[in-house]
Amino acid sequence: MAQGIPEEMLMNTTLIKELADVAKDAALIHGVVMRIKETPNSSELVTYAPFTLFPSPVPKAVFHQALAVQTHFNLLVDKISQDSGFLEEALASTIAVDDFTRRLFDIYRSVLKEGRSQSIVLGLNRSDYMLDQREDGTSSLKQIEINTIAASFGGLASRTPDVHRHILQVAGRLEDSQRILDNNPAAGLAKGLAKAWKLYGSERAVVMFLVEEGQRNIFDHRYVENELWKRKIPTIRRRFQDVCKTGSLDQDKRLFVDGQEVAVVYFRDGYMPQNYISEQSWDVRLLMERSLAVKCPDISTHLAGTKKVQQELARPGVLERFFPDQPQVVEQIRATFAGLYTLDMGPEGDKTVAMALATPDNFVLKPQREGGGNNIYGSEICQVLEGVKESTERTAYILMDLIHPSPVHNYLLRRDASLQVSKCLSELGVFGAYVRQGKDMVMNECVGHLLRTKSSEHSDGGVAAGVAVLDNPLLV
Ligand code: ADP
Ligand code: MG
Ligand code: MG
Repeated sequence: MAQGIPEEMLMNTTLIKELADVAKDAALIHGVVMRIKETPNSSELVTYAPFTLFPSPVPKAVFHQALAVQTHFNLLVDKISQDSGFLEEALASTIAVDDFTRRLFDIYRSVLKEGRSQSIVLGLNRSDYMLDQREDGTSSLKQIEINTIAASFGGLASRTPDVHRHILQVAGRLEDSQRILDNNPAAGLAKGLAKAWKLYGSERAVVMFLVEEGQRNIFDHRYVENELWKRKIPTIRRRFQDVCKTGSLDQDKRLFVDGQEVAVVYFRDGYMPQNYISEQSWDVRLLMERSLAVKCPDISTHLAGTKKVQQELARPGVLERFFPDQPQVVEQIRATFAGLYTLDMGPEGDKTVAMALATPDNFVLKPQREGGGNNIYGSEICQVLEGVKESTERTAYILMDLIHPSPVHNYLLRRDASLQVSKCLSELGVFGAYVRQGKDMVMNECVGHLLRTKSSEHSDGGVAAGVAVLDNPLLV
């Protein structure tokens, strides 16, 4: 177990119960809140967003390494998004078998063919890592994935530091309490949105949050919205079906929704097949992509965040293609890569299949999906691969080394669960924000972090999937 809260405190059930009550109230006071799952579209009943009772230890050096590489990842994603040859090649085998990625790619192709109407690009992403435990007791930063669409919890993560500070203070750990880092991704994400809005250049135009049908996590968005309102930037919230009804382009391809001109479309939806409930949703995605509005992300940046692209980036020489004169940047990025393996048809993919079947417990099999709960682990890898190994269907997946973070004991606080100590694993996310106008990067920043922690019983799943909970790093 890594160094965390002393065991005697964790085992003092009277104290823990008292602290858990204090913690839940602190979460409500500080706005670490969610709507309840029974009524996701009403704020009449809200509860605390699930979180850990105590912050989790994170080694200082790897934390700073993750922050330092973020602006390079921003640039990398942006460069990929502009390289149609690379995207075509990297995703060719995937789109032949994966319908969702193919549909996104169709939109991409049709936008390229028509010619992009907007030269302003806004990227708000989150690069996620786990700390792989080395035999000598140190740990190394390994990227799990980068989310280029609808990366969430920047809002709530801005409020969790005060909750953990308070809990630690009540627990008599004042020194630890003072070491909880400030964090404000909401402000940084809003800064990117504001910059793009300003460059668009129309005071009356709005920032449109494109939101899901079920909006349990609305407060996470509201923190970003309110940062925009503070800057006198009007924001609206609409679903795909709302845009279906009232969205249109004028002759200059300006996007209007309910009669309001949209300067920026910020996608907090549209990242998984279930989000496209009808053909009309796809039509509307295309409409928005064709428009003059700044898209966050645009379709090419969305595709740059696929797991297949991640795997292709790990091939020798590929990072050099994007940073030909910057070996140090290449090195910094590559240092975070875990082993990633292609399942394309051919000898290389055959080797991957053989390796996965021989030692499935060393790997994760990933389809091109987002939102948690889609990956395949252990013996299930064999079942799935046995079924697809001879056919092109296998190219819908990539294979990745399984990362082993050191577990830490903690309590996960959630509305529907009893209070019990769990063996926990954490995942560190780093938020990136950038804006490009034509060839000029006018903003490129690392804007905060997110620590999520789950019980080690679960191999997969994020906060929205009901598995992980919000946390804070305590640098050690
Ligand atoms: P998604 O886009 O659905 O979030 P991820 O690649 O982030 O997909 O995988 C979901 C979860 O699965 C992660 O949050 C993490 O808990 C676990 N996971 C993914 N890849 C690995 C890995 N290589 N090693 C260990 N756990 C992993
Ligand atoms: Mg993801
Ligand atoms: Mg993830």
